[in-house]
Amino acid sequence: DTITKTNKAIRPPIVVVMGHIDHGKTTILDWYRKTKVVDAESGGITQHIGAYQITLMDADKNADQRGSSISVNQRTHPRESASFEERKITFIDTPGHEAFSKIRARGARVADLAILVVAADEGVKPQTKEALDIIHGNNLPFVVALNKSDKEEANPERVKQELAKEEVLVESFGGKVPVVEISAKSGKNMEELLEVLLILAELEDLEAHPEKPGEGVIIEAHLDPRRGITATLLVTDGTFRKKDVLAAGKAVENIKILEDFQGHPILSAGPSSPVRVAGLGEMPLVGDRFRMFLTKSEAEQCIKTLPEIPVDEKSAVPLISEGEKSAKPIFNIIIKTDAAGSREALEDALKKIESDAIGINVLWSGIGDINESDVKRARATRLVTIIGFKVRMDPAVRALAQKSNIHIVTGEVIYDLLDQVKHAASDIIPPEIKRILLGKVKILKVFKKEGQKQVIGGRVEEGKLKKGARMEITRGKEVIGIAGISQLQREKTPVEEVSGGAECGMMVEMKAAIQEGDIGEAFEEEVTRKVL
Ligand code: GDP
Repeated sequence: DTITKTNKAIRPPIVVVMGHIDHGKTTILDWYRKTKVVDAESGGITQHIGAYQITLMDADKNADQRGSSISVNQRTHPRESASFEERKITFIDTPGHEAFSKIRARGARVADLAILVVAADEGVKPQTKEALDIIHGNNLPFVVALNKSDKEEANPERVKQELAKEEVLVESFGGKVPVVEISAKSGKNMEELLEVLLILAELEDLEAHPEKPGEGVIIEAHLDPRRGITATLLVTDGTFRKKDVLAAGKAVENIKILEDFQGHPILSAGPSSPVRVAGLGEMPLVGDRFRMFLTKSEAEQCIKTLPEIPVDEKSAVPLISEGEKSAKPIFNIIIKTDAAGSREALEDALKKIESDAIGINVLWSGIGDINESDVKRARATRLVTIIGFKVRMDPAVRALAQKSNIHIVTGEVIYDLLDQVKHAASDIIPPEIKRILLGKVKILKVFKKEGQKQVIGGRVEEGKLKKGARMEITRGKEVIGIAGISQLQREKTPVEEVSGGAECGMMVEMKAAIQEGDIGEAFEEEVTRKVL
């Protein structure tokens, strides 16, 4: 199939950083974000949205000659397409394997390569082994980064022996696993680590089809008080276009706000790009796969036929309790209070907010000020609000929460707190959408079709047509699709409305071709938001 072959492209690798706590995962991710993100110096990007992409500049291209430990003859097939100017790497920016496991639990494969970070002074620890289990379980090619090699106590040889005991044989131990001694603090060998990743990526044949509609995985989702439901998506194949329709989980959405990972508005993004969408109608689940479609009806059809994504029961976060048919949104809460009595009172009161429309899940509650570990706890789960009753919070903790997009409500009066919670929880209840029928039109003639744009003529048989309304097109008993009416004319004059009996011309947008004799039912949608 020559057409697809010529259209295939090499996509940047998606890399996850794993390892024991405090071995330097965050510091590594921060280093690359600071030094290798285009714009970072000028714009000062600070937001953490779950993923970012670095670009290796021309100036970096000699880095692999400075002695990375992977041998050059392992480059079996150099690629013309991976020119130095366009070398990119996408990092999943959630240190720790919790988030990654959650994605994996929902059956999605998202990373192509892993960095296993091991502190050269501490060596293999329990979470190093856990990370290895995940790496092996996913068949992820990986490189060992022996971090903190600037420290006096660093003992790389000992760590390599410990790794050998875990059956990870690095190159100098007769194995094939590449290893780089780095310091994320001083920057030592940080370029070399990237070069090794690129070599591993070359061996992986990471192909993509940029001409196809985008698809990928949701890697972060939360409720932003100003922008509504906001999510980070990793495009694993195809091109994500703003004008396309998103099908994620069981929701179909038009994209109102699309940004790159630095928050710049964009119209499209190619394979391996992290993108940010805001203003969604429904909260997607971390780990849900998504697909883009050219039309809403296609997306809706796909969702209908979509098999439930198998969820690994052991590690999946329970979001919907057994027996519930429709997925009601769950509002997660962490509670901090001044005393045990108030904690119980608050928990009880919160439970009363629960209804058919929303579930309340107290993830954790404790006594004392809101601290850093509360924020970290919140960060590990999606959509968590921290509630503080008669407690204080350090400015540093507040800043951390802000940076991590964690919503915090505090107060001295339980009822005020509850109101705030109700308000925030209302926002995640999906609105009820009702179709209101406007009128019926019989298509008498098709004048032109260019891409999705179609110029047609028809007679309004019932009710009226309105510019801007949508119209379901049927042929016999079959629904052909949903068209948007972008222009409406009566006797060559543009009009806003056409009523019963009259003939009119229309410009509509729909992928499938409309034919003479088709029936259009124009409708508007009434959106009702439930307020708790
Ligand atoms: P994480 O828990 O794996 O994300 O670890 P962090 O990145 O938070 O690092 C833990 C601590 O180790 C922090 O205090 C870092 O400043 C420190 N650290 C990280 N990398 C290095 C390094 O290369 N050298 C030294 N000396 N300290 C480091």
